[in-house]
Amino acid sequence: MDYDFDLFVIGAGSGGVRAARIAASHGASVAVAEESRVGGTCVIRGCVPKKLLMYASRFRQQFEDAAAYGWEVAAEKHDWGTLIKAVDAEVFRLESIYHSLLSNAKVKTIIGRAQVAGPHTVSVDGKRYSAKVILIATGAYPVKPDTPGAEFMMTSNDVFTLAAAPKRIVIAGGGYIACEFAGIFNGLGTRVTQIHRSEQILRGFDDDVRNHLASEMRKSGIDLHVSTTITEIVRHGAEYAVHLSSGEVVHADAVLAATGRRSNTAGLGLEAAGVAVDDEGAIIVDAGSRTSVDHIYAVGDVTNRLNLTPVAISEGHAFADTVFGNRKRNPDHSNVPSAVFSQPPVAMVGVTEAEARATYPEIDVYEASFRPMHAALPHRDEKVLIKLIVESATDKVVGAHMVGADAGEIIQGIAIAVKAGLTKADFDATVGIHPTIAEEFVTLRK
Ligand code: NDP
Repeated sequence: MDYDFDLFVIGAGSGGVRAARIAASHGASVAVAEESRVGGTCVIRGCVPKKLLMYASRFRQQFEDAAAYGWEVAAEKHDWGTLIKAVDAEVFRLESIYHSLLSNAKVKTIIGRAQVAGPHTVSVDGKRYSAKVILIATGAYPVKPDTPGAEFMMTSNDVFTLAAAPKRIVIAGGGYIACEFAGIFNGLGTRVTQIHRSEQILRGFDDDVRNHLASEMRKSGIDLHVSTTITEIVRHGAEYAVHLSSGEVVHADAVLAATGRRSNTAGLGLEAAGVAVDDEGAIIVDAGSRTSVDHIYAVGDVTNRLNLTPVAISEGHAFADTVFGNRKRNPDHSNVPSAVFSQPPVAMVGVTEAEARATYPEIDVYEASFRPMHAALPHRDEKVLIKLIVESATDKVVGAHMVGADAGEIIQGIAIAVKAGLTKADFDATVGIHPTIAEEFVTLRK
């Protein structure tokens, strides 16, 4: 049977674009539909603009420290409008690159809201296209908690369109997004109150890392409340009264919900097509990203596996190689490193100490906490944490964790060693680069 396309991709984010380009490079005719902007969450309203805001916010500490190094710096004022304009321009530039990548690969880009309209049919704003294979890569969206007054909360999507930085903000949540924006607004001079419902931030991370980051965030001026919930948000003119389970009331100009994300599956026609989703609306897939329908696949956050851009990209690439490149392979979700761009940042690869204790009969834990050299002259009370977890029987390093400047940059390198299954003896045999923070990873002794 003849189809309009070999592959129709719904969603032009990180996973969808990679899958479309690779499938096209294998000779497939490909279309991709996008209802918003090409580039998806990461490029348009996630990783990229967030990291640029993070860079902007770091200057405050650098200005403060500069005097200790002999500089006279008089930069007290930050202009949010200038920052957002520059960020928008960079996002626009990257979006254009994504458009070119698709057109150079001969992928047809269709702007509009797509729906699965039949076993091999996709409709985009009423126009129907047939395709041999359909890939769903529609990502996820931020959700607000079920709190009275939640309608007054903004989400991470809204931060990038704020007309001005709020003077006071309450941030709900203790995950990646909450910790990252707490650091950003704090650095830009906003008074930040972070409210987290559990006993510690960053569930799923190593406990020492969680405690260390919470302590550093508090030292930097963030008013972090744990084991606390928001019971109600009441609007009084231009400000909000945020009522807490502790009985306290915090007054703020903005309230940010950073309480998790959900797969974008509503209204996609999945039920009619027979594509199974789980209780949270995420598409259920097998190890090769195939859904419950043979020729319909899904990659990225919509599948709620490991919700990280590089993972979506690798899932999209593996799908395209398997289905169109005659090279069957599954995406590899083991030892995926990740970073939280909090201030200080956190990064990790492999298992936490608690996971290691539950997995291996015996482990060795190496840990160091120290003041980094750059904090010495300003007498800044800043501590780095680094930690290695080793399986005793094999001497393999099975987890590496860090809280401190450039953690993401450092752990990216360490992740190669962990992925390669190197041992503590291999780390010890490596000569350090002095003076660096990272050298501690090769000089850790019991
Ligand atoms: P996370 O799942 O990381 O965190 C959600 C937070 O909200 C948790 O602290 C959770 O608390 C809390 N929470 C959930 N529901 C409620 C509720 N009803 N009321 C109060 N608090 C609640 O989600 P994020 O939104 O921060 O990020 C989504 C995902 O996006 C991340 O998990 C990550 O995969 C990805 N991401 C990655 C980034 C990176 O790589 N740097 C950056 C940003 C996002 P509890 O711990 O108690 O469950």
